[in-house]
Amino acid sequence: MSDHTRRLQAALTAVAAACRVCRVVQRDLASIRSASKDDKSPVTVADFASQALVARALALGLGRVALVGEEDSKMLRERIGAGDRVLADAVLNAVRTEWDDATLDDVLQAIDLGGAEPARGDSLHGFWTLDPVDGTKGFLRGEQYAVSLAWIEHGVPMIGVLGCPNLSRDFSRPFDDPDPSGVIYVAESGGGVYELPGDDAGAAPVHVRRLEPAEGEPVRMCESVESAHSDHSASERVLEKLGDPAEPARLDSQAKYAVVARGQADMYLRMPSRKGYVERIWDHAAGALVAVEAGCAVSDALGRPLDFSHGRGLEKNSGILVAPAALHGRAVRAIGEVLAG
Ligand code: AMP
Ligand code: MG
Repeated sequence: MSDHTRRLQAALTAVAAACRVCRVVQRDLASIRSASKDDKSPVTVADFASQALVARALALGLGRVALVGEEDSKMLRERIGAGDRVLADAVLNAVRTEWDDATLDDVLQAIDLGGAEPARGDSLHGFWTLDPVDGTKGFLRGEQYAVSLAWIEHGVPMIGVLGCPNLSRDFSRPFDDPDPSGVIYVAESGGGVYELPGDDAGAAPVHVRRLEPAEGEPVRMCESVESAHSDHSASERVLEKLGDPAEPARLDSQAKYAVVARGQADMYLRMPSRKGYVERIWDHAAGALVAVEAGCAVSDALGRPLDFSHGRGLEKNSGILVAPAALHGRAVRAIGEVLAG
């Protein structure tokens, strides 16, 4: 088996396990909240459990790996040091649903496998990047979130596995109505993108292809729920320039990339809402590859290619634009006009 195939398989195994653990935590939202007396604790538990399981699955499948994960164990270790084990026990319980003989030490060590720094400059070589729970606000609302894992080589995502545990294959299901099984997208640079049901590893993958939207139809845009993450009024002005606009769909996480890739929306626009904010690589690497492999154009809001070769941030980019090529070109011009005032 080639290194590439082994990486693909390990990444899919890893994300599938992480999605299952996130679902387990979602079922226990209320009890975790009340035990820790902290509204945000369920997503913290899911973040740590998801990162631990992804790191372990990659290490089991591939040996030593360079993993740039969003989380580290510092906060958990500090709490344990202060005698507060509530969160650590909740993480351990969650992890044990997939890794039954894990100890707390195993879990902390697995989380810290995600502490690699992205290679820079001359020493560019491959590394993984992980957002263990992307769209934390969506997770807490019981709406859309994602587990996002990508393999990046020379600044370019080569493998992307995007687990969307609450996203339905059925387009008629509203985004705020969580699906019982969810979906996982597996994308390979030059090899296309495939959709798998979240709960059936044996199911046949479905090839995802994106066509141009019909001429003259309203552009169906999707964007963040959070206006702090994307300037809704700027995107509304862009949409107006593209013709008779449809009501935008709002959903959290990189599920937006998949929603455009599979044709449920025509465009994902992320207009910078805070000057100087640098997008994180794990918030985009897997999603961007999913959309590209379906045949979409992916860039920043100014039409520049996403550049993943600058450490943890997309330092050379600003905002995000995803759409089929012809619409993408029109949208870049519309964004330019809106930004020019
Ligand atoms: P979304 O679910 O699309 O709203 O994106 C969630 C991601 O937005 C989180 O993972 C954060 O890393 C990221 N984020 C946080 N602050 C900002 C900001 N000011 N602008 C853009 N993205 C942000
Ligand atoms: Mg994120």
